Amino acid sequence: MSFVHLYTDRSVGDLNRPVVRQRVLESLGLTPRDLVYGGQIHGTVVREVSRADRGGPRVAETDGFVTREVGVALMVFGADCPLVLLHDPLGPAIAVVHAGWRGLAAGILPEALRVLRPAESGAVRAFLGPCAGPCCYEVGEEVAGRFPEAAVRREAGGRPRLDLPAAVELSLGISVDRGAHRCTVCSPGCFSYRRTGARDSQGLVAALA
Ligand SMILES: [Zn+2]
Repeated sequence: MSFVHLYTDRSVGDLNRPVVRQRVLESLGLTPRDLVYGGQIHGTVVREVSRADRGGPRVAETDGFVTREVGVALMVFGADCPLVLLHDPLGPAIAVVHAGWRGLAAGILPEALRVLRPAESGAVRAFLGPCAGPCCYEVGEEVAGRFPEAAVRREAGGRPRLDLPAAVELSLGISVDRGAHRCTVCSPGCFSYRRTGARDSQGLVAALA
């Protein structure tokens, strides 16, 4: 068993658009009828879903999904928020998580690990897609103060900058593959709400295959 994953960029199009979703899914050998996605609210709810959940309306108020079944296409969106893929090859099981700063600070990633892996298996692999990087992600002290100092960059006279990739890794407690990561704010090929104010989104799509 394995999984597929895709962090789209501007060349692929805005994953909020059904026609783009269909094109992306078909390129992965899946269809919109295989899809499960949520109304994201920067919360900590992670739901386990099955083939019976595919193709319906978006699942209310959910920022993370887990499945153990083949052919269930899990998807999350984000413009600057980290999108995280977790893979437990022993399950086998996968999770996709929309982990913006609010969800990160509230613990959505440990919650995703708990749902993914009810019994400790020790084999989970984590992957991070494009999100705002520490080069660009200035935050206020009220946000910085909710994260470990190891995830905050400080320079004299400037506002603190949050290192979201580091915050993801610290929250999970395992190393994260950053091979697909770029800073959305300063990478022109990425959608970035902070850079443009537009709602277009990258998407992370994953399925057990
Ligand atoms: Zn940047």
